[in-house]
Amino acid sequence: MKMRTSPWRAAIAAVLTAASGAALVPATAQAAAPMVKTQAPGYYRMMLGDFELTVLSDGTVDLPVDKLLTNIKPPQLEKALSRAHLKAPVETSVNTFLINTGAQLVLVDTGAGNLFGPTLGKLLANLKAAGYQPEQIDAVLITHLHPDHLGGLLAGDKRAFPNATVHLAKAEADFWMSAENMKKAPADAQSGFQNAMAMLTPYATADKLKPFEGDTELVPGIKAISNAGHTPGHSNYAVESKGQKLVLWGDLLHVASVQFADPSVTIQFDSDSKAAAAQRKKAFADAAKQGYWVGAAHVSFPGIGHVTPEGKGYVYVPANYTTKQ
Ligand SMILES: [Zn+2]
Repeated sequence: MKMRTSPWRAAIAAVLTAASGAALVPATAQAAAPMVKTQAPGYYRMMLGDFELTVLSDGTVDLPVDKLLTNIKPPQLEKALSRAHLKAPVETSVNTFLINTGAQLVLVDTGAGNLFGPTLGKLLANLKAAGYQPEQIDAVLITHLHPDHLGGLLAGDKRAFPNATVHLAKAEADFWMSAENMKKAPADAQSGFQNAMAMLTPYATADKLKPFEGDTELVPGIKAISNAGHTPGHSNYAVESKGQKLVLWGDLLHVASVQFADPSVTIQFDSDSKAAAAQRKKAFADAAKQGYWVGAAHVSFPGIGHVTPEGKGYVYVPANYTTKQ
């Protein structure tokens, strides 16, 4: 026998429909979907000539920029941040860059590993999500030996990239690997030296540590450019293929919303802030003039874009999203 809808049920449904102004929907769609609460995997791919570039996120960290930035007055800082809809502390990206030249796989910087807490140290997971394995990396280029750039060199007490040769400026290695410099440093700076020694020694022991001097081509198409200031041996890396050029800036700047417009703003992390500001001005001017790509460790992920002059300073133009490979 065919079931019939009872008249009172139909009446209630009609009243409910009229009251809500909407048709009744199945009960399953009324249950709230659980929130996912995780970000998409942290990698971004683009081609640079014949090279494949994959930006790999190591995560983000909250920077109390109001306490860290120097050579700027609090009202100016607040104004610059509010123009960017930000306020201190600013959630700050830590980006690393993987370049597949077709012949070699080269990683620039390694993130923080386990030196900075749970919001960082995501490089290896994102590297794997991006389709690569740590064993495949031939060379690791380090911009400088601060913990958020070198901490990923080890996984536990083993080399995270067992087949990679580590390259960095000799001036940088000499400064941070010196027991003499460590002795002279204040108590709260000791760990910086200890970390550098702990991370680099396993590579040195395996004869996989190759410091360089001056502006040197390390891999065909990838060249180190001295950028001393933020640290004594801070290096930029220029990547070039088929007339396409990208310069990886390391810590040339930390707070994009402030320092592009005013490159004279410095940060307490600078070992020589005057030299760091001069390097920043020179690098911004060159990037704006030549029109090449730039990539920065602490510009919002993926931290790849261009620089355009504006007023007395510059604006950063983030890369246009691409799915073309
Ligand atoms: Zn940094």
